[in-house]
Amino acid sequence: MPTDPTAIPIAALPFPVMLIDDRQIVAALSPSLAAVLGDHVRGRHYINALRQPITLEAIEAAMKTGQPGLTRWLGRDGARDTTWDVHVIPEGRRMVLTFEDRTAAEEVGQFRRDFVANVSHELRTPLTALQGFIETLRGAARNDAVARERFLGIMERETARMTQLVDDLLSLSRVEEGERMRPVQTIALGELVVATLADLEPVIAASGVTVALNDDSAGAMVRGDANQLRQVIGNLIENAIKYGASGGALIIRVDSAMYHRGLRADGVTLHVQDRGPGIAQHHIPRLTERFYRVDTHRSRALGGTGLGLAIVKHIVSRHRGRLLIESTIGQGTTCSVVLPLA
Ligand code: ADP
Repeated sequence: MPTDPTAIPIAALPFPVMLIDDRQIVAALSPSLAAVLGDHVRGRHYINALRQPITLEAIEAAMKTGQPGLTRWLGRDGARDTTWDVHVIPEGRRMVLTFEDRTAAEEVGQFRRDFVANVSHELRTPLTALQGFIETLRGAARNDAVARERFLGIMERETARMTQLVDDLLSLSRVEEGERMRPVQTIALGELVVATLADLEPVIAASGVTVALNDDSAGAMVRGDANQLRQVIGNLIENAIKYGASGGALIIRVDSAMYHRGLRADGVTLHVQDRGPGIAQHHIPRLTERFYRVDTHRSRALGGTGLGLAIVKHIVSRHRGRLLIESTIGQGTTCSVVLPLA
């Protein structure tokens, strides 16, 4: 058979594309589409290859009308759902289908929607409480001085929580904004830990926890942003106090500078160790997700926003460092941050 000079060399195309012949059979597909659908769909009826009603309807419509169409095809890649825009282009009695991977854009959209829903939910709870207390203070508790004091105390705490939430959201957005710019200051990590501990003195005193600091860093310097690193150190210590206070003691260590495989460079590591109740293994990979908490009620009661470790993760990543959380139920938790030497 002579080669058709207008034939489309599908197998050579670098993007996902399929040719359906005049018998409605998948005659050819490019390697990148074969990787998605499987090679076995070649030679099958397109209905068996694609299966999804909205995709099939669009193909039928394009066949009937001879007009190109745009539709969707939903796939799965391991544990991940994938979304594809499919352009259906009639070519005489044949059809060409091109697939465009929209998964990343869909995920960004979903992420935004989840984020807005989470923030709204976090704000709604204290706002509802405030509204309730205002009504009570205007009505039933108008002349009850004791109740008024108690309600004002709760209102103050709820307001503080909302302020903390807005502060954390702004922090997170600032950190994300600057994430691609490497920090320029050189900082002695050990000294910064001492300064942060001094700032936290009132919180530590109020918690009744004893804090031991072992600084072996001998003044080792890291390249960093002092404010952001203070936030990392502060968030880890505050978490250890909030969730690990029952263990009574915190141990903070700054190691001497050494080669670190994860960094493929020399680095200094800060460990914040508590002897609290610990965290079950399955939660650990998710702790740095925004608003992820092991126990939402407890976190809220302690003034938590669920954003602390997300902020830590972003700052550490901006510093080209690594965050490691290790925990054993009943024994406590150790959060470690390793930062490359300046
Ligand atoms: P939060 O504002 O809730 O403290 P974080 O992002 O800082 O938010 O932490 C997320 C969750 O991780 C916390 O709600 C808590 O459940 C858990 N967590 C963090 N640090 C510790 C710790 N040292 N011990 C036990 N649980 C912890």
